Amino acid sequence: MNPNTMNPLDPEEFRKNGHMVIDFLADYYQSIQNFPVRSQVKPGFLLETLPDSFPLHPEPLETIMNDVQTDIIPGITHWQSPNFFAYFASSGSTASFLGEMLTNGFNVVGFNWESSPAATELEMVVMEWLLKLLQLPPCFSFANGGGGVLHGTTCEAFICTMHAAREKILDQIGRQNASKLVVYCSDQTHFSFQKSAKILGINPNNIREVPTSKSSNFQLLPQSLEDMIKEDIEAGFVPMYLCATVGTTSTTTVDPLGPLCEVANAYNMWVHVDAAYAGSACICPEFRHFLNGVEGASSFSFNAHKWLLTNLACCCLWVKDRLALTSSLSTNSVLLRNKATESGEVVDYKDWQITLSRRFQSLKLWMVLRTHGATGLREMIRKHVKLAKEFQRLVAMDARFEILVPRYFSVVCFRVSPSVINDDEGDANEFNKKLLQSVNATGRVYMTQTIVGGIFVIRFAVGATLTEEKHVLKAWKLVCDHATSMLCKLN
Ligand SMILES: *Cc1c(COP(=O)(O)O)cnc(C)c1O
Repeated sequence: MNPNTMNPLDPEEFRKNGHMVIDFLADYYQSIQNFPVRSQVKPGFLLETLPDSFPLHPEPLETIMNDVQTDIIPGITHWQSPNFFAYFASSGSTASFLGEMLTNGFNVVGFNWESSPAATELEMVVMEWLLKLLQLPPCFSFANGGGGVLHGTTCEAFICTMHAAREKILDQIGRQNASKLVVYCSDQTHFSFQKSAKILGINPNNIREVPTSKSSNFQLLPQSLEDMIKEDIEAGFVPMYLCATVGTTSTTTVDPLGPLCEVANAYNMWVHVDAAYAGSACICPEFRHFLNGVEGASSFSFNAHKWLLTNLACCCLWVKDRLALTSSLSTNSVLLRNKATESGEVVDYKDWQITLSRRFQSLKLWMVLRTHGATGLREMIRKHVKLAKEFQRLVAMDARFEILVPRYFSVVCFRVSPSVINDDEGDANEFNKKLLQSVNATGRVYMTQTIVGGIFVIRFAVGATLTEEKHVLKAWKLVCDHATSMLCKLN
């Protein structure tokens, strides 16, 4: 009989098999460059390979790990590869990985303080540490009626803060006016904003997308926002929520927080600042100015899993008025009744999020902050920014290419210029699309695209933990070689 079946948590079995998986992953990281960065499999590849039915009898770990190697790995897009330049990276680290192991090992369900006091208090400590590291204004601190919480993703942060905003305003204007509530974002805001509004049942016709333009770098302009708000009020709507972005997904542009908050606050709206990617950069003094004005916002979030060496998923959210959040999300049951909660002295994080059950999330972030310290994390950010600058310099030196929007952080948006094709924007879009496909098909790098102002742009995003200068140089050479050969065929 398989010992796993006798005791699924046998300590010696755990030790032996745990080491086997760690060794497997160490080998994986060592050889990660041998795999095509973007998985090359066809739809159905795994559905056709794996047996239709489950195993009747226990199988040894060795057999299962062999299948991971042969069946699973080909279907993996290697986000931890140093040649991964797509989307925004998911920067993992050993420290975070080990923190996740502890989380899994303890496997507690920390819905309220009593269910695992350390899970709650470590999260509070880590959120206060991060608040200081980012130099967020004290109004977001627990000491001043605010506070921080870890969510999985930004989408959850949107949903919870939008819900709090709606409850707050409906208390003032009456529930019968719910259909008049309007939320605002720009045409550059991440699509998870729309998803969140949909989930909350906001009428799709009441989601305003303020248009942006290339001439103002795709920033959300306060004047455009105010014009739209005024129009809405005149038509009988009630403005409720604004999302401003620091580091938009498409081009990493930064909305002017101060002036936007000023407009929104004049109309009694909740402002959420979404800094999912670029928030991490703001731990460096030279980038912190991008958060200037955040004191006017009601809430702020960033994803430590994007650029702060923390494994997925880890969205850090702060609110100014924690009562607005908890009163809109709290529910109670006899089952959970306890002295600590009744004393009012503790935080019960179940009231800060969508779900009731929650993981001991803060361990990995705590491990990352302690293992790397502020200096180590700043060094990592600066290294990535420097690599992106180097890539930008190479693009700028080659007259066939052009940079479409200014680089703020570690993303370069570029394309082959229409002037070396036939001066036709449509053909340039087609050409650049094919160029990107051809580069990605090699499996040696992975980049993605965006379309801004009708222009197809290749997005080169540095941020994978293992990326070094040589990977950036190789990536540029690959782009150049493919562009050269495609241009030759044109003429
Ligand atoms: C990635 C990103 C998001 C979405 O984050 P999730 O955690 O996947 O929900 C939201 N906003 C911006 C600006 C992003 O870059």
